[in-house]
Amino acid sequence: MTKVNFKNYKLNSEILKAIDILNFKSPTNVQEQVIPVALENKDILVKSQTGSGKTAAFAIPICELVDWDENKPQALILAPTRELAIQVKEDVFNIGRFKRIKVSALYGKSSFAAQEKELKQKTHVAVGTPGRVIDHIKQGTLITENIKYLVIDEADEMLNMGFIEQIETIIRGLPKERVTMLLSATMPKDIEILCNKYMKDPSKIEIQSKTLTVDKIQQDGYKVEETGKLNLLKDITIIENPDSCVIFCNTQEKVDTVCSELNKSKYPCDKIHGGMEQDDRIKVMSNFKKGYFRYLIATDVAARGIDIDNITHVINYDVPKG
Ligand code: AMP
Repeated sequence: MTKVNFKNYKLNSEILKAIDILNFKSPTNVQEQVIPVALENKDILVKSQTGSGKTAAFAIPICELVDWDENKPQALILAPTRELAIQVKEDVFNIGRFKRIKVSALYGKSSFAAQEKELKQKTHVAVGTPGRVIDHIKQGTLITENIKYLVIDEADEMLNMGFIEQIETIIRGLPKERVTMLLSATMPKDIEILCNKYMKDPSKIEIQSKTLTVDKIQQDGYKVEETGKLNLLKDITIIENPDSCVIFCNTQEKVDTVCSELNKSKYPCDKIHGGMEQDDRIKVMSNFKKGYFRYLIATDVAARGIDIDNITHVINYDVPKG
């Protein structure tokens, strides 16, 4: 069987060039199923996990379909966390770079005025967290009248974080004539209800988690003197630029030291170890899961059994004890 190629989708040469530069040789399973349907402007419900290439699955058709000459936003992508909104913005930017697609990221704890200024310029795609998107809609700084594409990414996470009502508020302010794509790793009842209420006969696409592109774990080891470890750690983080990274140390003292050193170098980081109050540990874990910071420094005892889907990197700062 011949492998599907991105060229099969009759995409604009500017989009194909960007895909080529990203080194995407052929569509992933989810892309193969989503792209042709999305290009026909149909609603889609995707059950798929992070790591399947789902962002490009909706970003490619959106970049292809938006009209460059239109100044007001044509696509709105909702994401549960700031980190994810930034990530999606970058992905859309990378795919749309030769078409000169303008993407704005709208999220809280960041200057409203700066986002407002950006929105006054040509904006094809807005990516944001629900709270800040609502603020911009209320203030009239995000104009919704031309939005033709709505993407609700990681819908089950949105549900877990209590965002469903806000999403409904946003949807009610959008044009009815639009394409809606919803992506979720699981399909709890409340998400199904949301889909039935706001989507038009969506194509249902389910991707088994076996097809994850991040299924493969690459492992590397480095021989280094104790005194050189911290610098090596920093070098590795610069090269790898992880979205979400756990750094394991063998002792509480080491966790404290590494955390304070990374803090000094302005890394978005926090720590957990057994010497901390349980409430503090829970809070740190919850913030890490929400993507509020990227580096969690932990003793393996404190972090045992943590279940976080989106960790991209694990670094054993010390040789783990058996
Ligand atoms: P996502 O599921 O959107 O988080 O994507 C997971 C990773 O797969 C990201 O690093 C993407 O850059 C990468 N990716 C997406 N599509 C492809 C593709 N067709 N070929 C290779 N890598 C891809």
